[in-house]
Amino acid sequence: MFDSLSDRLGGVFDRLRGRGALTEGDVRTAMREVRVALLEADVALPVARKFVDDVTEKAIGHNVLRSVTPGQQVVKIVNDALVEMLGADASELDLNVSPPAIVMMVGLQGSGKTTTTAKIARRLKGRDGKKVMMASLDVNRPNAQEQLATLGTQVEVATLPIIPGQQPVDIARRALQAAKLQGFDVLMLDTAGRLHVDQALMDEMKAVADIARPQEILLVVDSLTGQDAVNVAQNFSDQVPLTGVVLTRMDGDARGGAALSMRAVTGKPIKFAGTGEKLDALEAFHPARVAGRILG
Ligand code: GDP
Repeated sequence: MFDSLSDRLGGVFDRLRGRGALTEGDVRTAMREVRVALLEADVALPVARKFVDDVTEKAIGHNVLRSVTPGQQVVKIVNDALVEMLGADASELDLNVSPPAIVMMVGLQGSGKTTTTAKIARRLKGRDGKKVMMASLDVNRPNAQEQLATLGTQVEVATLPIIPGQQPVDIARRALQAAKLQGFDVLMLDTAGRLHVDQALMDEMKAVADIARPQEILLVVDSLTGQDAVNVAQNFSDQVPLTGVVLTRMDGDARGGAALSMRAVTGKPIKFAGTGEKLDALEAFHPARVAGRILG
């Protein structure tokens, strides 16, 4: 994750820190290199541009260049800007309601939505001690409901019994009732995906959201698709009130462009990162830690 960006920035900062004094020109040269590094990591152009402009202004505007360790100060400014760009105020799930709290999972087919539903359920159960139920509303993809049931068995989380032929909104109603009656803390609704964002998908999501009134609506997107992931997020965000994004396949994403641009472009926080196929391969996304990892 972020390997080449990390290397590139490391080189720029070593050169900055290596000098005793810095001129405005030194900062501008370094920031040009930072901009190239961000673009090579597939960060959206306006995001990279704004990042570099903000950092440059802060670095040459105050007394940074006259300080004893100007290089270090500039690196600190970059670090703070990176944390901000990644979503400084990002939080994990906000499920502080009278139970059951509803978490609705949305996304395109193949994004890793069903796997992620099970990963989050596992985490809520094991780490937070919540009593969790999952229900699949995906009546389009053959065996989607069975897939979630199998995952439920693997992570030892209950799933709503399948009634063949039942439609998504009715499944949502039944799931809500079951979760209430059986005293579950959290109900996770895995909605149907599509190959592309289309109106039928959006209408179905809105109908389910109207019934379920979820505390969290999490969009699952594949980080390997880079800026497409950000565009998909923007499309979904225009239609349903997303509370956050989960980026999957971060384990294979050496560049990290989707992670770096997501918050700035869509305004939505990244809440989790999927880091592998196994059901424990899920990390809470902490901007400060991620920035620390990038800057080494
Ligand atoms: P859905 O169609 O969106 O529900 O996608 P699935 O949950 O069925 O996942 C599709 C494939 O992606 C499966 O083979 C998953 O194991 C895999 N997958 C999901 N998340 C990750 C991840 O974070 N890393 C990796 N390497 N594979 C993942």
